[in-house]
Amino acid sequence: MSSVLVVGAGPTGLAAARGLAKLGIKTILLEKDSELGGNPIKNHYHTLIPRKLKPSQVLGPYIREVQESKNVTLYLNTELVSCEGEVGNFKVGLSNGKTETVGAIVVATGFEHFDPKRKGELGYGLYPDVITNLELERMFSQEGKLYRPSNKQLPKRVAFVFCVGSRDRQLGVTNVHCCRYGCALSGLQGSEIREHYPDVDVFCYYMDVRTYGTWEYPFYWAPQEEYGVRYVRGRIAEITYSPADGRLRVKHEDTIVQRPAEVPMDLVVLVLGMEPSEGTKKVAKILGLKQDKDSRFLVPSDESGSNIVSNKEGIFIAGACKGPIDIESCLSEGEAAALEAAAVINTKVGV
Ligand code: SF4
Repeated sequence: MSSVLVVGAGPTGLAAARGLAKLGIKTILLEKDSELGGNPIKNHYHTLIPRKLKPSQVLGPYIREVQESKNVTLYLNTELVSCEGEVGNFKVGLSNGKTETVGAIVVATGFEHFDPKRKGELGYGLYPDVITNLELERMFSQEGKLYRPSNKQLPKRVAFVFCVGSRDRQLGVTNVHCCRYGCALSGLQGSEIREHYPDVDVFCYYMDVRTYGTWEYPFYWAPQEEYGVRYVRGRIAEITYSPADGRLRVKHEDTIVQRPAEVPMDLVVLVLGMEPSEGTKKVAKILGLKQDKDSRFLVPSDESGSNIVSNKEGIFIAGACKGPIDIESCLSEGEAAALEAAAVINTKVGV
């Protein structure tokens, strides 16, 4: 009987490993970190779009089933370091010193959030009241309250700055893609602020709002019509701090009325883009997987109509290692990759 290697135990990898285990296939699940669940768990996401569920509600059942399955061998704090052979008979070297033989591989190495320090003009790391949307999620999920880090007081005015590290040609060709989740999540976070703190004014600074498919009403219109979140079309030039009143200044060009403006804010939330993780780049090299020449995300094979078949036979790519994607699609792709990998085991190896 042959096994399948799943690289990465975020939502996609968990779904792939669970799917394979349910099909009775021995699965080796690698995770470079010390816990399962990927970004939603590691970064303490508060509420997941679009179903507004907690990460524990969505990922908890997957984590439990994988941990309890006799078909899954789990290696935490472990990375893939080498791979030889071909479909049906890959010899993989792991950073824990073990070597395993597997018939197929599922790559689910995910993404990383953009480092906002690369956009120095936005003041992240310089002014404590400039935070990221991840830090806001952590404030909600871990501390259960909204506050300005500089003085622990409730802010009067909060600004969300969309597209930080996304759709940005100043950063070069690597960051021109849309993050897909940022507008919707900000609509949700802005609504949550207004719901719990109706005296706090919330402003969203956008280039244009991209709430995909069925997300348009709940994450764009409802924030405005039901919660009073205000949307301002403008490009942010700089965020500064005024010692005179201890508040931030958001300097931008209002692109509707076409004039510059400078607005005082108490808390600024940077909505971070998505980039391929270091793990995705490393694994692409080890396995010889094709990457997009600009973004460096993995790309499927041109020879197959499937979105998860890689350029290497027997190796499947699923989830955010191929670009921005929502969590529900990650789970579906992980499950689809499990099916493809199981088919390889059945046809090339024979279970
Ligand atoms: S989803 Fe919204 S915030 Fe994210 S890059 Fe696209 S337009 Fe910008």
